[in-house]
Amino acid sequence: MMTAVREVSVFGDAIAYFNEAAALLDLDPGIRRILTKPSRQIIFAIPFQRDNGELEVFTGYRVQYNFARGPAKGGIRYHPGVTLDEVTALAFWMTWKCAVVDLPFGGGKGGVTCDPATLSQGELERITRRYAAELVEVVGPDKDVPAPDVGTNPQIMAWFMDTYSMHTRQHVPGVVTGKPLAIGGSRGRVEATGRGVSLVALAQMRRMGIDPAGAKVAIQGFGNVGSVAAKMFVDAGCIVVAISDVTGGYYNPSGLDIAGATAYAQEHHSLDGYRGGERVTNEVLLELPCDVLVPAALEKQLTLANARDVRAKLIVEGANGPTTPDADHIFKERGIIVIPDIVANAGGVTVSYFEWVQDRAGYFWKESEVNERLADVLLENFAKISEIAELRGVPLRTAAYMLAIDRVVASMNTRGVYA
Ligand code: NAD
Repeated sequence: MMTAVREVSVFGDAIAYFNEAAALLDLDPGIRRILTKPSRQIIFAIPFQRDNGELEVFTGYRVQYNFARGPAKGGIRYHPGVTLDEVTALAFWMTWKCAVVDLPFGGGKGGVTCDPATLSQGELERITRRYAAELVEVVGPDKDVPAPDVGTNPQIMAWFMDTYSMHTRQHVPGVVTGKPLAIGGSRGRVEATGRGVSLVALAQMRRMGIDPAGAKVAIQGFGNVGSVAAKMFVDAGCIVVAISDVTGGYYNPSGLDIAGATAYAQEHHSLDGYRGGERVTNEVLLELPCDVLVPAALEKQLTLANARDVRAKLIVEGANGPTTPDADHIFKERGIIVIPDIVANAGGVTVSYFEWVQDRAGYFWKESEVNERLADVLLENFAKISEIAELRGVPLRTAAYMLAIDRVVASMNTRGVYA
């Protein structure tokens, strides 16, 4: 039974990565105890009215993992697989992600167990407003700042911001990030995560002597992160040989037409029926010959079952938690470099931070300024991680956790532990 629980626990896998780095840092056992427990977990019912008038109840979650460096920060996921375990793991990762790029935030995450594809816009709006209303006391620009994640988007953030503002009787754009531009969103936010994925990938490719011109890239997941990363790779001269979404994958060893695939996905709300490449499954996509593999869908895609069959030289984790610790060890043995999620997809939260800053100042930046500052933050911290990896002889993931843990612990120790 214990094994079964361990096998399905996303939070269990997340803690395993933390423990590896904590051991090398000689972390105080008391601090370690605090850091391996979420500060606050909230589970609540979300009653809402279906379009046909029926009342339905879904379950909502918000986990605020750590506040040492600032307000909690992290997305809201609408997906049938959302559980407390998953949301906790995602909030845990947000803690390290914010710290590894040196943002003044702690870690949080939220979600609703639902399938947004089966819900109308009206139903989504009612669910979102009730979700936000339930959290009014515990979120806010100085408490916890949500953002989009899988299954949520700028419109959902707009409904969240409006509900919070109505309840608190003031205009509070900084309560969420990833908003539409019309209500205080940041230029460049929609593209930020995919842009960040390609920025760190290209930096690492340069270190490994992989010429971007003609380098082959396979991408699992063609949503916000995957589709933007695909475009950025093409702009850098790479060939995107495979893409996929929940309906399956598409492969062309000579390169797919990414602009065409993006237009198709936008028009049809998925890649289903796309004819630009040979059909492959999501499992086969991960094992295709390529230089760079970007998992950009969900957790636990690279596992003990397929890690030996991966043919990429470099894995860039666009998704959160796509690699299990078992698979990670195999990649280390096989000399496959992994840029971990907490750095690879930190572009999103970095521009979310810029959005929060702009909302609080009431002064908005040009897109070129956002992109320039994003590149500065990501590449400066990625260089620090690479340096630690080299100095300590550890993989990039362990080095990233070491840097992040060091920063969180420095804040905790400076503030003092109120215990
Ligand atoms: P999204 O909802 O826009 O896209 C998700 C994509 O994954 C879609 O193409 C979907 O069809 C596909 N997908 C879903 N289930 C799948 C499955 N079982 N197999 C293959 N593909 C599947 O979400 P997103 O915002 O692009 O997020 C993708 C990942 O990136 C998630 O792990 C998310 O936590 C992470 N992430 C997102 C952001 C952001 O700013 N959007 C930031 C950091 C990390």
